[in-house]
Order: sequence, then structure tokens, then C-alpha cells
Amino acid sequence: MNAFQIFTKNSNQWAAKPIGSEDAAAFREAVRRGGFKRLIAHTDYLINPASANDVTAARSVESLRQEIERCQFLGIDMLVMHPGSHGGTGQQEGIRKLGAALGKVLGDAGRVTILLETTAGQGNGIGNTFEQLAEIVEKSGAGRHRIGICYDTCHTFAAGYDIRTRDAYERTMESFKRVMGIERLRAFHLNDSKKGLGSRVDRHQHIGWGEMGLDPFRLIMNDPRFHDIPKIIETPKEGNPEVYDRINLDTLLGLIDSE
Ligand code: MN
Ligand code: MN
Ligand code: ZN
Repeated sequence: MNAFQIFTKNSNQWAAKPIGSEDAAAFREAVRRGGFKRLIAHTDYLINPASANDVTAARSVESLRQEIERCQFLGIDMLVMHPGSHGGTGQQEGIRKLGAALGKVLGDAGRVTILLETTAGQGNGIGNTFEQLAEIVEKSGAGRHRIGICYDTCHTFAAGYDIRTRDAYERTMESFKRVMGIERLRAFHLNDSKKGLGSRVDRHQHIGWGEMGLDPFRLIMNDPRFHDIPKIIETPKEGNPEVYDRINLDTLLGLIDSE
């Protein structure tokens, strides 16, 4: 392990306990001693700047600002967030609101890059096509380095992008490249999917145990374009997470060609 993703606060509450200076120093020291190269924070699950409810939308922007500050304090330079949901106002309105909110907060983001996570396309969600994500980035008016994409393999597969064969994989990556530029892809969430291609249902599975199988993960682990891109597992945590996390990491490392 040389990368990890954390929440810097409770992921299901607005309120956040401030991080003390000693805690931040201890965190930085642990990162240094552990030799970790890529640190990612994930925002809480309540943040939704695209919300149809103005109070929630405003609260989301404030909360996002705080998440960015916490990252800066801890020395974390990538912050993953979900594009969220438009709550019935329509995709275009959701995209416009989220883009505007990102434009607002990125001014104070310092070195923190916000990564929009690809989504499965459940309900009123936005961000399940590369085109929509590109539009959000464009609407934010942010420079090229300020917003990236976190490619969640389970979500993107459920959204209808196939990567199970080399041909399908190349077609999907080509489409990402054409719509957004491959340099926007800044992190992966490597999860297999319990549901099928295009199901639009977000259910993670252990690597190789789901509808995707091992081949997509072999292609990603050996793609030279993604050597330095952090890859995070968000596989199921029920039961015996330490044991399963180890198995999933070993499975991924075992897919790397030795040459
Ligand atoms: Mn996520
Ligand atoms: Mn994810
Ligand atoms: Zn998911």
C-alpha cells in the first residue's frame, strides 16, 4: 500500500470536529513514516451543491470549503466528491449549479484538487456520462489542474461503459480522452460490480467476484498511462474487512505483468 483514501470527518453528518494541530502533526508524521505517496480525502455524503433545496445547496458549498481546509491542514492534495443529484430540477440545472459552486470554492483551494467521481446514474443523480462531467468542469470555469475525475470502475460500468475486454476498454478510455483529456483522470476507485453493465445500480463487489471479473482490473493495473494514478479499493466491508481488503489488494497486485 502506498496510497489511501480517508474521510476527514463523519461522512453522514454536517458537523465536523475541528482537527487539532497535534492531530494534524501526528497524521503528517504517520504518512511520512508509512512512505505513502498519494493521499485522498473523500467528502461527506451530504454535500450536494446541485440540490433543488437552496438551503442544502448553500450549506453544501460551506461544507465543501471546510473539507478543502481540512485537506490543506492535513497535507492531503486530492478531495473526491460525488456530483450529487438535481432533485427533480433536471440534469442541466444540476450541472449548472454544481459548476458554479465549484467555481466559487476553488478560489481558496490552494493546492487541493477536487476530483468529481463518476457515478452509476441512479435516480436524479448527475455525472454518469463523461460528457456531463466535462460540462460540470467547463461550467466551473476552473483551470485545468483544479478539477480532475475519480474513475470508479463499479459506477462507470453500471452507467454503461464496458471495460471487460481489451477492445471495450480501449473504446471507453478513448471516449474519456476525447471528451475530457486523459490527464483529467487523477484517481481510480477499483471496485467490481454486483450489478450488470448499464444497470445504473451502485453495488460494490470484491475484485473479480462480480459482473466485471478480473480482466478490467488487469488492463488498468498494466496500463502505463495509469502507473502513477492512485488506485483505491472500496470493496465490501461487512464481515471481516481486514481479511478481504488484504485479499483484494493481493488480487490486484497479482494482476501486474512481471515484464
Ligand atoms: Mn464515492
Ligand atoms: Mn467510489
Ligand atoms: Zn459506489
